[in-house]
Amino acid sequence: MQLLSVVLPAYNEEDNIERTCKVLHEILGGAGIPYELVMVDDGSRDRTWEMILKVSETDSHVYGVHFSRNFGKEAAVYAGLAKATGDVIAVMDCDLQHPPETLVEMYRLYQEGYEVIEGVKSDRGSESAIHRKMATIFYDFMTKATGVDMQNASDFKMMSRKAVNAVLSLPERNMFFRATSSWVGYKTTSVSFEVQERQAGESKWSTASLVKYAFNNIVSFTTAPMQFVTIGGMVCFLFSVILTIYSLVMKFTGNAVDGYTTLIIVLLFIGSMVMVSLGIIGYYISKIYEEVQHRPRYIISSTVRGERGITDELNGSENSDKE
Ligand code: UDP
Ligand code: MG
Repeated sequence: MQLLSVVLPAYNEEDNIERTCKVLHEILGGAGIPYELVMVDDGSRDRTWEMILKVSETDSHVYGVHFSRNFGKEAAVYAGLAKATGDVIAVMDCDLQHPPETLVEMYRLYQEGYEVIEGVKSDRGSESAIHRKMATIFYDFMTKATGVDMQNASDFKMMSRKAVNAVLSLPERNMFFRATSSWVGYKTTSVSFEVQERQAGESKWSTASLVKYAFNNIVSFTTAPMQFVTIGGMVCFLFSVILTIYSLVMKFTGNAVDGYTTLIIVLLFIGSMVMVSLGIIGYYISKIYEEVQHRPRYIISSTVRGERGITDELNGSENSDKE
């Protein structure tokens, strides 16, 4: 049987760690699947890391990774993928919103020869109306911009070692895991799952952080907004041609234009188009800047291996460049 690594990013999840380990033990152990749990503590402010240390004392399946600060979920997922030793690797939330039974189903599909098994939401669970609306707009845009159906996509997936290595080999710092996993290709299938209620703690997403996440991922995955700048420019040009003709006609027919209003509108319109365009370009430049800085995606301060129950203090020096 091939070893399954389950990557679990955790940020302020102290109340979920023990339960998640227990549930996964029951389900994966029950199905006879050899597994390890790569729990990545994304610089939590609560006792998440203490809880990981605690479970690692009794549970030999646990491999804990502790970030030096909060680097965000994408970085935590990436670190988990880099640290996982399994032949097949799954990524799931550690609040049990992704039903663990689905892992067994995914594992069977992997055994049938699929390299990438995507978890697809059959129902978005209980999200607030505004959250749902924002998510719909964001995923609609992503679907159009990437040509990959993102509407019901999730971070819940299972990938073969080959596919994971392909993801790990991508050089970009800002990775949008959800889309990257399908971008790498390979024999892909999907399983649908129902988003469960969060077991404990609260969601880490405010509407503001979702908007930021959306912008970030759009920019790191597609240059489509740049095309808006070009299209906007062309639309402006078209308007100006029409207005020029109109003004000239008015002038030569002797109807002096009392064009103050028109003038203001045109000025404001073009001015705002220019500023929006500059903003979009500026955002891309800032992302390019971040990429060329070539900072590590994350910094690990310590790790723990369940079977040994010992902690390796890494003196904050290990980072993703050493993978
Ligand atoms: N998470 C993380 N780093 C962060 C924010 C979230 O590792 O900065 C983890 C979190 O612990 C959880 C998963 O990402 O395991 C999904 O987060 P959450 O449940 O808050 O999102 P939601 O399910 O509400 O979309
Ligand atoms: Mg959640």
